[in-house]
Amino acid sequence: MYQKLNSKLINKLREIVGAQHLLTGKEQMEDYSHDENPNFFARPEAVAKPASAGEISQLLLLANRERFPVVARGSGTGVTGGALPLFGGLVISLERMNRILEIDEENMMAVVEPGIITGELHKAVEAKGLYYPPDPASLEDCTLGGNLAEDAGGPRAVKYGVTRDYISGIKAVLPTGEIIEYGGKLAKNVTGYNLLHLLVGSEGTLGVITEITVRLLVKPQHRVDLLVPFPSYRSAVHCVAAIIRRHFRPTAIEFMDRKCLRISREVLGEGISAADAEAHLLIEMDGMEKDDVERRYEAIGEVCLAEGAGDVMVADSPTYQEKIWATRRKLRDSLRAVSPIISAQDVVVPRMEIAALLDGADKIGRKHGLEIVSFGHAGDGNVHVNFLKRNLDEKSWKKALHQATTDLFTLSIKLGGTISGEHGIGISKKDYLPLALKPAAIESMRRIKRALDPANILNPGKIF
Ligand SMILES: Cc1cc2nc3c(=O)[nH]c(=O)nc-3n(C[C@H](O)[C@H](O)[C@H](O)COP(=O)(O)OP(=O)(O)OC[C@H]3O[C@@H](n4cnc5c(N)ncnc54)[C@H](O)[C@@H]3O)c2cc1C
Repeated sequence: MYQKLNSKLINKLREIVGAQHLLTGKEQMEDYSHDENPNFFARPEAVAKPASAGEISQLLLLANRERFPVVARGSGTGVTGGALPLFGGLVISLERMNRILEIDEENMMAVVEPGIITGELHKAVEAKGLYYPPDPASLEDCTLGGNLAEDAGGPRAVKYGVTRDYISGIKAVLPTGEIIEYGGKLAKNVTGYNLLHLLVGSEGTLGVITEITVRLLVKPQHRVDLLVPFPSYRSAVHCVAAIIRRHFRPTAIEFMDRKCLRISREVLGEGISAADAEAHLLIEMDGMEKDDVERRYEAIGEVCLAEGAGDVMVADSPTYQEKIWATRRKLRDSLRAVSPIISAQDVVVPRMEIAALLDGADKIGRKHGLEIVSFGHAGDGNVHVNFLKRNLDEKSWKKALHQATTDLFTLSIKLGGTISGEHGIGISKKDYLPLALKPAAIESMRRIKRALDPANILNPGKIF
């Protein structure tokens, strides 16, 4: 169905990006054959590292003419197989397009290339007293282009929202090679169909993002974190609801169950948890005024104690805060250290249904004989339920996993939720999409894809 990259095509690709920016070596292809989902692997035939939208446009024009598949790639930290070249062909790595083009302090906007590492953007704007809130736990590695493609969230989404809320302009190359621009340093914009919001969350299937204008805030001056142990996960999640109901404006409310913190302690050699707690909440508050932050965290602390918390540990020093958050950010790596194969599902439900979701997940794990570990963004109803393979044989794992995943997604939908809050569909969830969306919605998406990518050359085999 697709043409292989023969030597003639490889030469043409070299002419476009320069010989030193085109990789074809077998070992070099390994690095671009997987993302952070350990269940999928697909090797590209070549990897191009373009330096501009113009070069990407030429690559896509060639791909259309010669019918070979193309997949855009940021850092490969995705967890749904989204950046994998399922049908071989060309991977476009955005790693050379990683510049901050402008930080406009007066308009409070920054213009960047898609390959910028999210954490680097944070540091650069914070040095100027500004703030880019979206903070996926992978921020030290992932790219802003990947964040846009997945509409990444992060712990701070409770107060600040997700990537989509901070994008005001975009430049992208369509699958057919045209370069489009939409928006700019604008606070509002309703000029025609919003192509920007079409591309955000499109998982690299509708265009390659080549330039991004992001909205910035003023950096909050004060920040306090609370680490709160609970005797049961039910009391922890009820507490989440109580905090939200009282409008204390927390920045983040992360949930971690006993098992994940125990594994983290085993792997990292030190822990942050209270030994007898069934679950912990990590709650962050920030603001401009110290008094305001203090008042709110004291009030939240009281709610936690009233809801059954064993203690409220206050982290107001950068060292202690970093220790707690580093442990939280490394949870996924810690799980993979004890079980290299895991399946992590980022189901999302209305906040008040988290207790029902976790109760149900527990039962599903027991029913199918799978170990389940849960943590995640409880403040926005987005808990990551991880199935651990450990030593299960391949056949039993696959069978149990499929049934357990179906049950988990069915439960999430029954509770008014859906199958992905932030990781996207990619390859790993595409078989389950019909559980979450009606045929008319899926068909509308397919039509959009066909209209923009008639030859189906950009990231084929994903989402549908
Ligand atoms: C430890 C860990 C923690 C994580 N925590 C979070 C979290 O808190 N919140 C969250 O939302 N996610 C999280 N993730 C998932 C992942 O980091 C995000 O999905 C991230 O946005 C992917 O960025 P990336 O640069 O690695 O993209 P990749 O994995 O390289 O690509 C992901 C998708 O984006 C597309 N893409 C990449 N760049 C472009 C571009 N320039 N134009 C068009 N399409 C493009 C790819 O084709 C692919 O479909 C986590 C992952 C790990 C491993």
